[in-house]
Formats: sequence, C-alpha cells, structure tokens
Amino acid sequence: MKILVLNAGSSSLKYQLFNMDSSEVLAKGTCERIGAGGAITHKRTGSEPFCEEIDLPNHGVALERVLSLLCSAEYGVIASVAEIDAVGHRVAHGGEMLESSRITESVVKYLETIVPINPLHGPPAIAGIKACLALMPDLPQVAVFDTSFYSTIESSRYVYAIPYEFYENDKRRRYGFHGTSHRYVSGELAKALGKPIEELKIITCHLGNGSSITAVDGGKAIDTSMGFTPQEGIAMGTRSGTIDPTVVTYLMKTKGYSAQEVEDILNKKSGLLGVSGISNDLRNIFAAAEEGNERAKLAIDILVNGIKKHIGAYTAEMNGLDAVVFTAGIGENQANVREMVCENMGYLGIEIDKERNMNFTRGIPFDITAKGAKVATWIIPTDEEYMIAIDTQRLASK
Ligand code: AMP
Repeated sequence: MKILVLNAGSSSLKYQLFNMDSSEVLAKGTCERIGAGGAITHKRTGSEPFCEEIDLPNHGVALERVLSLLCSAEYGVIASVAEIDAVGHRVAHGGEMLESSRITESVVKYLETIVPINPLHGPPAIAGIKACLALMPDLPQVAVFDTSFYSTIESSRYVYAIPYEFYENDKRRRYGFHGTSHRYVSGELAKALGKPIEELKIITCHLGNGSSITAVDGGKAIDTSMGFTPQEGIAMGTRSGTIDPTVVTYLMKTKGYSAQEVEDILNKKSGLLGVSGISNDLRNIFAAAEEGNERAKLAIDILVNGIKKHIGAYTAEMNGLDAVVFTAGIGENQANVREMVCENMGYLGIEIDKERNMNFTRGIPFDITAKGAKVATWIIPTDEEYMIAIDTQRLASK
C-alpha cells in the first residue's frame, strides 16, 4: 500500500510517500513560499535532492506539482497517481474530534467551524485537504490530529480555573499538541524496552523549536504541557511558554500594546530568542554561552529548569516513573541539554550514562540510562509522518 502524507503550513506543504509494505519512504519534499513566489525541494530516496523555483500561488498548485514530480520519469517513484492508495493529512487541531478520521464533507465542515480556535494552522490544513479532494476525489483521505492523543486526559487537567462558562461555551481548555509525536515515541520506547506500554509510566520530552512534555501512563496521555494553544508550557524557540497572565494585561495597559501586538511578542519574540537576544536556535545560544554571554546562559537555564519541573510534576501525577524519552531537534541532538536536565535527578531514579549520552548514535532509538538506574532514559527519533501513515493505512483499509 502506498500512502502520501501531507503536512500543510500557512505557506508550506511538506510531503512523504510511503510504501507501507516495506515501511520505506519512497520520496519526500517541501514546497515553500506558497502564495509568495514558490520553491520545491524534492528528494527521491537514494538520489540527490531536486530543487526548483516555481510559482506556487496556492496549496492546490503546489500539490499538483508534487504529484507530477512523484510521477516524473526523472525524479519520480510511481508511474501514475493511481498507484497512491490513500492520503494522510496532519491536522494540528481536531477540536472535539477525538480520533484520527476518514475525511468526509462533514469533517471538513467541522474543521471550518473550529478555525477561530485554530487560526494559524486550521486554514492551511483545510486548504491542503480541499486541494487533495479536488485532485484525487476517489482516494480515501484521513485526518490525523495532534490533539487526539489527549482525549484521555481528565477534566481536572484540561479545564482552566477561570469562570466555567469559558470552557463550556467557548471551549477555552487545554487541548495539547505534538500528540502524534508523543504517541509515536512512547510506543517506540515500549518496543525498545520489550515491555507492554500498558505497564509503563513514561514522560516524553518533545524538544524542538516548539516544545512540549507529556505524561503517558499505560499508553494513555494523562497530562501535557501545551494548552489551549501551543503557547503554553516550557520556554521555546520564540514562544514564552507559561507566564503570569497579568503580564499580558500589564503590557496592554501600561505600554499601549494591542492584543495582536502582545500575541506577536509572546509567540515570535520571546522564549530562547527573547531572553538571549541572539537566536531561537539553541546551537547559536550554546555558542554564545561558551563565549561567556550571560543572557545566553540564562536562556539555557530557563529551558532546562522548565523541563525538570515538568518531569517532577508528571512523576507526581503518575505516582511513579519508568522512563524518560528525549525527542525532536533539541531532544535528539543536544546532548548537553539532556545532561543538564538529568543532573541531580537521582531522587526520582533518573541517572544517565554521560559517556553514552555524549557519544550517542543519531537516528535510532538509543539508551542513555546509567547502569543500575531505576528509570530508563532514551533518545527516540520522532517520526510523525510514519505515525500518520500508519493511521491512514488502518482507516483507509476499513
Ligand atoms: P525542531 O523544531 O525539532 O527542528 O528543532 C529545532 C531545534 O533543534 C533548534 O533549537 C536547534 O538548535 C536544535 N537542533 C536541530 N538539529 C540539531 C543538530 N543537528 N544539532 C544540534 N541541535 C540541533
């Protein structure tokens, strides 16, 4: 079975074509600057990438070009679009939709109704789905929601302590994000440990430009750091993470900022970038810290402390801990962050082998647990696209 996985952003469209029989990626790529010029990087597995500048006025045109590249004699991997069996769409926000779903007209209509609570990611995802439906109307299409992994969390963890009607009438609640990644890495960890996931208490740390931490008890998410939007939680590349909400009203009242301006500050100018004043990329911040830059050191300490705090809190919520997983750009690559997070965590049973942590192998599940430690600590590369392909295969075959 061949499955095309699409991840549509506001001006981008990422794609991967999977052969599910061999669990291989046949080709993948990214369309960028959609609506403002356009460029595609396309890579057939085992070949050099092909890049082109091409006018991409909308997601539909981008998808047409992707399909023609996938079928082309020179760069393609299939003879015709008819070889694709199903399409899986990454949809960040599923609102009240609790499970990955076959896309029907009513699913698209529902996604349109929740655009107000998902203004950034909703419209491009819907545009990607509509483009697919127009070009390949007979193909099964599946939506996989980042939020659905959190359908198992209890109301005490998702209702905010503000007047209840804001939850009831306006759906102001914790939704949680990166669920597909947390679901994937917790499953891979259980496989790596050779234990049933039902028996494990796991904390998964997805640390990238956007970061979230999730407590997974017996395979079910019970709490997560991102909330109503991906803004809540630990400090991120450019997002503040959790702050006292009064800072918002203070900025508006005393500095005259509009709601939009404050939102932009908290989303785009805060986090590691805001504190360090250097970059949202942790590599640059570590380089500056090594040269003695105090604000760079502070940004790193804020990040590390946020991760530690969540690990402590989630261990308490689960009444125990069997494993910690590090994943995504920082989690998979920044050994120094993993070391700082796991320093002085012996009380909880977390101890890592510093040698293995520094000399880890990239791209595979890698055990960094110290000998005799009570809690297993692993690096697990995330693969949201593969998880989407698995759900798509399951639902398309029904
Ligand atoms: P992501 O959003 O998952 O792509 O992660 C972005 C973050 O991961 C940035 O802060 C980078 O510093 C970090 N990162 C990504 N790749 C590497 C790498 N190869 N080595 C060190 N850090 C990396």
